[in-house]
Amino acid sequence: MTKVEHLDLKDITRPGARCTISIGKNQSRVKWITCGLLDISSPDDYGRRTVAARMGRGATDVEEDSAWAFSFDVIALEFESMWNGDASYKAYIAIPHSDWDYDSFKVPLPGHDPFEGSETCTRCSEPHPIVQKYVPDSNIELYKRLAGQYVYITVNPHEEG
Ligand SMILES: [Zn+2]
Repeated sequence: MTKVEHLDLKDITRPGARCTISIGKNQSRVKWITCGLLDISSPDDYGRRTVAARMGRGATDVEEDSAWAFSFDVIALEFESMWNGDASYKAYIAIPHSDWDYDSFKVPLPGHDPFEGSETCTRCSEPHPIVQKYVPDSNIELYKRLAGQYVYITVNPHEEG
């Protein structure tokens, strides 16, 4: 069983659906990330997709681009099932092929507060936080442990963030 620390990112991602990301198959499955609204990109030519969640509270970087709570790549994403409206998908954490790929795994450390040191934007009609980092730093140590692992994503549209 792969050991991962649970990252509860509900309070820092956009509310609107509850998404759960687990590592491992069936009985060995371990809950890894809980968050609000998730983005999953279209596949590139190699079937690689990016799974990511934007930060909540309208957080942006200094250029007014939405900030991200986490971002990592998967391959072979498939629809698994729907149960009472909850959609489940399965995939594998993409294996890095170059040093550049290692940099794609942007997952925060447990307890990290991305709002720490943020400022409030006063240029926009609705004030929002400007965070110091557009995405978390790469987590190469965790990526080395999780690369190639089975990942299971459930989207629950009934439950808030
Ligand atoms: Zn602004």
